[in-house]
Amino acid sequence: MQDPVRLRLHNTESRVLEEVFPSDGKAVRMYTCGPTVYNFAHIGNFRTYVFEDLLRRSIKFFGMKVHQVMNLTDIDDKTLKGAIEGGIPLDVYTEPYKKAFFEDLQALGLEPADAYPEATKYIPAMIKLIQTLIEKGVAYHGQDRSVYFAIRKFPSYGRLSHLHLDELQVGASQRIADEYDKENAADFVLWKSYDPERDGEIYWESPFGRGRPGWHIECSAMAIELLGPSIDIHAGGVDNIFPHHENEIAQSECCTSQRFARIWAHSEHLLVDHKKMSKSAGNFYTLRDLLNRGYTGRQVRFALLSTHYRSQLNFTFASLQAAASSLERLDDFIARLEGIQNDKGQPQAEILLHDAHQKFSAALADDLNISPALGTLFDLVRSVNTLCDENRISKLEAEKILQFLKNIDTVLGVLFTREEEEIPIELQEMLVKRNEARAEKNWPLADECRQLIYEHGYVIEDSPTGSRLKKLAKS
Ligand code: AMP
Ligand code: ZN
Repeated sequence: MQDPVRLRLHNTESRVLEEVFPSDGKAVRMYTCGPTVYNFAHIGNFRTYVFEDLLRRSIKFFGMKVHQVMNLTDIDDKTLKGAIEGGIPLDVYTEPYKKAFFEDLQALGLEPADAYPEATKYIPAMIKLIQTLIEKGVAYHGQDRSVYFAIRKFPSYGRLSHLHLDELQVGASQRIADEYDKENAADFVLWKSYDPERDGEIYWESPFGRGRPGWHIECSAMAIELLGPSIDIHAGGVDNIFPHHENEIAQSECCTSQRFARIWAHSEHLLVDHKKMSKSAGNFYTLRDLLNRGYTGRQVRFALLSTHYRSQLNFTFASLQAAASSLERLDDFIARLEGIQNDKGQPQAEILLHDAHQKFSAALADDLNISPALGTLFDLVRSVNTLCDENRISKLEAEKILQFLKNIDTVLGVLFTREEEEIPIELQEMLVKRNEARAEKNWPLADECRQLIYEHGYVIEDSPTGSRLKKLAKS
């Protein structure tokens, strides 16, 4: 028997591909850093979430279960600033952005994670971790009463980002003049002491005084609480590698004495004009911006999905348009298969499908290598279209091909998720009128109806199974 294909993923820490499997024998436990809910997420953020969705779906495609946790960062400098400037409670400030995030996830066809913990609900777990770190002597009180993690107490600090502690300490000592509060400028904050001028009325009580948790400890606490001390995959964008994930490793492993995550997976950035898309640079698009321009969530998903996650992706409207055209081809292909009534076929389709399945699985298993996976799909479209042109695909075979497409769509999530187009009722009536005119051989009236439909942005597609209206592609 042939060995089953196994999913392998690039591990940022080891820098090699490693097999994905559930180390508890049940489900792959995956923690993915979620959005900071101080504004609408931009499509750069969504590139990372689409990658994580592809990973989640691929784990299932290869027959494993997955348990994914994605946090919502509702405590950080930006959420506090927004609430204080707006003169409203923190939860009131973050609520609309949380809601918008879930709406966007849905529009992009992202499968829901199994839990979306919010930092504000896990303060006791964070305090517990910090207390343990103080007891173990790896955390200390700074001069400003904040609690810091001493990176020199964790000898493998830097192992994820491949930075050396010496380099960090040399760099840090040069900056020490600005950092009176800490023993070492590269140490990071675990608990930030309360400053009434900066924090308004927003603080939490703790054994270390009033204040709030640092961002890194938030993720460690939520990951350990919900997934246990040692997880299978931890993912995020490359900008999370240092310092965020490096710090998560240090504080988690010092607390639990266990390896925090086996595989670290990071997606490259989405760029605009070859610069990282970011809120601070102001060069960003939200999903809403693109929907308002007439694109669909499905088109954006396809555009974000179709470049390998470890390559940078430069966002352009031309690439979005190319995604729209590819999807149109696939829609036409599916419509064609669904319309086949022929009962004669030929065994070639079976061979094509077997080959396509093997190639698709092998590409995906190889670190989610999406380009050859999609290449296989478009090769199949081309070959089957040729067979259809020659009337050599039977209804039964068409059904098998559709079944294959449904199977790979559990990973891609774009083939059978077409948004139902709202075709205006007048145009649907116009199509009926045109078909009646044709049946009566009233060609001038039929042409007039076609022209009117065209002027409203639709074309008529006639096939042996009937006629339908299709929206004209944007130019
Ligand atoms: P943030 O809300 O800034 O914490 O970011 C949420 C997630 O989006 C993190 O995993 C980041 O690494 C990721 N991210 C931020 N900007 C980009 C970008 N331009 N391209 C891809 N991922 C990004
Ligand atoms: Zn995180």
